[in-house]
Amino acid sequence: MLNGVFKNLFFYLSKNRNFEKFIVSSRITKPLVNRFIAGYNLEDALKVLENLNQRGIRITIDYLGESVIDKQEVENTFLEYKNILSYISGNNSISVKLTSIGLDIDKNLTYDYLRQLVEVSNFIEIDMESSNYVDATIEIYKKIKTDYPTKKIALAIQSYLKRSIEDVNELIKYNPIIRLVKGAYKEPREIAYESKKEVDRKFIEIAEILLKNTQYTLIATHDEKIINHVKNLNIDKTKFEFQMLYGIKFELLLRLKDEGYNCGIYLPYGSQWYPYFMRRLAERPANVIFLLKNLFRK
Ligand SMILES: Cc1cc2nc3c(=O)[nH]c(=O)nc-3n(C[C@H](O)[C@H](O)[C@H](O)COP(=O)(O)OP(=O)(O)OC[C@H]3O[C@@H](n4cnc5c(N)ncnc54)[C@H](O)[C@@H]3O)c2cc1C
Repeated sequence: MLNGVFKNLFFYLSKNRNFEKFIVSSRITKPLVNRFIAGYNLEDALKVLENLNQRGIRITIDYLGESVIDKQEVENTFLEYKNILSYISGNNSISVKLTSIGLDIDKNLTYDYLRQLVEVSNFIEIDMESSNYVDATIEIYKKIKTDYPTKKIALAIQSYLKRSIEDVNELIKYNPIIRLVKGAYKEPREIAYESKKEVDRKFIEIAEILLKNTQYTLIATHDEKIINHVKNLNIDKTKFEFQMLYGIKFELLLRLKDEGYNCGIYLPYGSQWYPYFMRRLAERPANVIFLLKNLFRK
């Protein structure tokens, strides 16, 4: 309850331009930002990738940026992703937000960029953004899976959305790889579950559908209770992986790796870290308290 109120307040505050300017320019926020992002350029991210790969952990790289409406910026994002793909290999992938490659401009433009990335990739993951993009994102996923049925392409689905069970049952026909997440945006209660209990219950329900009906699933959560539930299902370990965000619960991920589970880390980098960072703060009151404490101490 308190977490919900806090989350709403924080989402509201994060839309304030002055607050944004303050957070982006403040040196005090940097240590916390650096906890969640690999750095500001690809070189930084590749160093982290190499280190984690050596420990047996797969990486998906996110070039930070979203809601891009400038065509040149969209083109630059596409070129950056192409560049990443020329450096990564094996099971490593890129994670793309469709609004970073033009979804707010033109769906066809986005599809065209995505198609070109898919053609030169081993593995691409598509993030899920706020609910007003879900229809378009699923439509594009179905099309790309139809056009490139043998390519490894994953799609994130959010358990907090009431529609997600239906979406998953429909997507199963496309032989998907689903990255199951709880959901990180502020959504109206008409379309999204609000209580943690319900979001978690749906997560488990959807996870069970996916693990039984698809080839491979990305269980993307830091929630130990859910992770233990999935472990206790005794599903063949080659059929799924545990995926976590860079900077969160790394020790737990290493333990899972030691127990023989496939493990992955979502690794963001780039200068456009503000919205990503704000979502990480909103998820956890303790992060904001930590930040505020440092602000007042200075
Ligand atoms: C690999 C990956 C990819 C993701 N992709 C998407 C996506 O495409 N679309 C989308 O909407 N969301 C995405 N998310 C975010 C997700 O929706 C959740 O907001 C986020 O994972 C927190 O939920 P949780 O499952 O960890 O459970 P929670 O119940 O929120 O957290 C469980 C525990 O994890 C730890 N924890 C969680 N968040 C934080 C944090 N920010 N800081 C410190 N500790 C924390 C805490 O110990 C907490 O008790 C992704 C998450 C992961 C792991």
